[in-house]
Amino acid sequence: MSLPLMKNFIDGEWVESDSTTIGDVWNPARGEKIAQVAYGTKNDVDKAVQAAKNAFWEWRTTPPLSRARYLFRLKEAFEDNFEDIARTLTTEQGKCIDESRGEVRRMIENVEHATGVTTLMCGYTLEDIATGIDCYGHRQPVGVFAAIVPYNFPAMVAWWFLPYAIVAGNTFIVKPSEQVPMTQTKIFEIVDEVGFPEGVINMVHGSRDVVNGLLDHPDVEGISFVGSTPTAKYIYERCGATGKRVQSLGGAKNIVGIMPDANLEIGMPSLITSFFGCSGQRCLSGSVLAPVGDGADAVIDQFVAATKIMKVGDGLDESAAMGPVVSTAHKERVLGFIEKGIEEGADLIMDGRDFVVDECPNGFFVGPTIFDNVTPDMAIASQEIFGPVVSIVRCKNLDEVINLVNTRNYANATCLYTTSGAAAREFKYRVKPSMVGINIGIAAPMSFFPFGGAGNSMFGDVKGHGQEIFQFFTDTKVVIERWF
Ligand code: NAD
Repeated sequence: MSLPLMKNFIDGEWVESDSTTIGDVWNPARGEKIAQVAYGTKNDVDKAVQAAKNAFWEWRTTPPLSRARYLFRLKEAFEDNFEDIARTLTTEQGKCIDESRGEVRRMIENVEHATGVTTLMCGYTLEDIATGIDCYGHRQPVGVFAAIVPYNFPAMVAWWFLPYAIVAGNTFIVKPSEQVPMTQTKIFEIVDEVGFPEGVINMVHGSRDVVNGLLDHPDVEGISFVGSTPTAKYIYERCGATGKRVQSLGGAKNIVGIMPDANLEIGMPSLITSFFGCSGQRCLSGSVLAPVGDGADAVIDQFVAATKIMKVGDGLDESAAMGPVVSTAHKERVLGFIEKGIEEGADLIMDGRDFVVDECPNGFFVGPTIFDNVTPDMAIASQEIFGPVVSIVRCKNLDEVINLVNTRNYANATCLYTTSGAAAREFKYRVKPSMVGINIGIAAPMSFFPFGGAGNSMFGDVKGHGQEIFQFFTDTKVVIERWF
């Protein structure tokens, strides 16, 4: 049976790439090929950019509220197709169906937030900056923007950017991850039904050639990137070289501190989902557990007990709490880190190698894995594993937790569990990462707050969604005016 081939969406049409490089799309729970995707070419990028450029002026001169009305319709259409998008997402990415529903909900929230354009995009005015002279700054759209996104959130991440860019009057191109192209294709079928003007929103599938085509194209004004740190840095530098706007979000190594006074009866479920949600394949996964003081043994016992009862299986099984990792290649990478942890002398107290799910014998599963007595210098305490592997670094006090957080190579997110307001304040005041949780796991900011880290977790200064994103997608034109 031939597999469906994902098409590009350019200028309001579904078109095939002329590329001869075709990649497979997998169901990672079943270990089965389910679709194919062409790795697009520079020619595909040129067509999409031309369409977006042609659409710009008419879209830019459409009143903001009229642009927002397309988003209202899109929101309704997304709600109507909610379950279908979530199931496609789980089928190709592997995460549990409830997590997929959560992701689709977060995607829709960005559409909802962007409809506030008539207040969010406003500029500012000051009379009499000198006698009889007034000044105002208004935000104008810039042109064609693009998003290049990772595999772990196939629906949501592109929509951290797209709704804001277009509602501000720009036109847009999405480059989904070649590992999970089906979800965004389903989403674009809905975009197509809603009937945006041709060329306002486009999608080109592919890999490096498409990325480089976008980075080097003189008519692309800015890039929103989310992915691993080496790629994020590359994107940032190449955009700098070609003078583009860029926001480039990278990887993470998130620490979760547990103070001796923490209430884990309430906290444990959020702790478990932080570490094992999406099989650890989140930039907001807990990666290092840092229990403090003499209570560490009890914390670890509770954590291991809660991990053991977690059901691992096909994400479409409503009772599964953790699914597979995305590919065999990624499974090998995660297993490599487990071997490295053993070599480095950490204590493997829960071993997820050779993990088998009976109903899914060919799935790309790594079982929940826990190392105790990890030291901060070990690779498993400092490098991004992006799998269901927990490194426990025992700390003497809060200072040691803060020091652990601030000496990682990343600064995306962190969290502390405590019942002490003073400890919580000290922690959130001193840690470097830009996203901080207190008693809530590694939690994601909602669409109306900015999303993004610091240090090697983000290059550029305007983060995803929130209010500031309108700065990224507009130019503030300042007019200084005097009438006689
Ligand atoms: P990745 O960097 O491999 O790929 C991301 C995108 O870049 C994909 O669309 C891919 O096609 C493209 N790409 C990859 N290598 C490239 C290259 N050499 N040249 C040009 N383009 C290239 O990331 P991934 O494996 O898809 O996603 C996982 C990573 O994303 C993790 O590191 C995770 O922490 C990070 N992530 C970060 C955030 C955040 O908000 N900071 C959110 C989600 C994921």
